Amino acid sequence: MSFAYLRPESLDAALEALAEPHSMAIGGGTDLLVWIEEGLASPRRVVDLRALPGAGEITLRADGSVRLGAAVRIADLAEHAELRARFPVLADAAASVGTPALRNMGTLGGNLAQRPRCWYLRGGVSCFKNGGTECAAFGGEHVYHGIIAGGTCHAVHPSDPAVALEALDAHVEVAGPGGATRRLTIAALFAGAAANPRAELTLKAGEVITAVELPAAAAGGTQHWEKMMQRGAWDFALVACAAARRADGTVRIALGGVAAGPWRVALSVEEDVASGALDDESLDALAERALYDAEPLGGNRYKVTMAQAALRRAMRRLIAAG
Ligand SMILES: Cc1cc2nc3c(=O)[nH]c(=O)nc-3n(C[C@H](O)[C@H](O)[C@H](O)COP(=O)(O)OP(=O)(O)OC[C@H]3O[C@@H](n4cnc5c(N)ncnc54)[C@H](O)[C@@H]3O)c2cc1C
Repeated sequence: MSFAYLRPESLDAALEALAEPHSMAIGGGTDLLVWIEEGLASPRRVVDLRALPGAGEITLRADGSVRLGAAVRIADLAEHAELRARFPVLADAAASVGTPALRNMGTLGGNLAQRPRCWYLRGGVSCFKNGGTECAAFGGEHVYHGIIAGGTCHAVHPSDPAVALEALDAHVEVAGPGGATRRLTIAALFAGAAANPRAELTLKAGEVITAVELPAAAAGGTQHWEKMMQRGAWDFALVACAAARRADGTVRIALGGVAAGPWRVALSVEEDVASGALDDESLDALAERALYDAEPLGGNRYKVTMAQAALRRAMRRLIAAG
């Protein structure tokens, strides 16, 4: 498979190139090049976004907020000391991604836009996302698939940083044809991921992520990351949990590995955690309530138990610090 490689140095030039048919954005290429190699994507040109102004920069503002260029590497998120001091849950989530090689090549934008690891999707099976009408995992092998339904597809999104960004109430900056820009919450970025046959993100044709904004109000406080994997390292999350108690006492908790995108627990659960001391019995009840909507498939019921355990630990930690 051959394709043209472009490395524009201005956003306008990148957007112009991406407006051409059969163009795809590329960051570190750790996912896209595999898709191309396996015949799952066949772009005529790939547009490298890493040379755009500010794309690789972490900007710490005096008010406590942070701007992350979309081409910031996962390794930078994990290793930047001042970013870690403000947003440890994001640094820990980034540090838990794959391998050192992947973290050194992979970018934040590419991590958010990577496709699910579902074996049916990647195996070219005629599933919902591959042009079919049903999810092959539903009646097939689904041990790693989702327990929260949201549409036809049962694949989970593999991004760990996305789960931390949801707990931090981050926003994503998007730019598209003609230079039009939009600002989306993480929930809006992943809205309808299980029902969208083409992609998991709500990006329109020709749009790219240009940056992620972390709000000052979410800096500091108590932040917690947990990732449960089948093996100790180099693995995707079976279940991940990102939780944050802000300095003002408010709480936000998100789970990964359970749905088509980062899944935020009910507001009432977060409010109960924020309200203070809860004994073990109350925590068990809260963890059960948080997963009330879970609809596991026959082979992944274990994820409900796992998610409840992760939630109990996260809630204990936030309450202890409150
Ligand atoms: C063995 C292995 C283990 C892994 N483990 C984990 C893990 O534990 N946790 C985890 O989170 N991830 C994991 N990953 C995924 C890895 O982190 C991603 O491959 C990587 O983050 C993708 O980044 P990239 O810059 O290389 O993306 P690319 O491969 O360059 O692009 C991926 C997709 O994003 C699109 N894209 C790239 N940049 C942008 C942008 N700015 N705006 C819009 N679209 C864009 C591309 O068009 C493409 O569709 C693993 C991958 C492998 C191979």
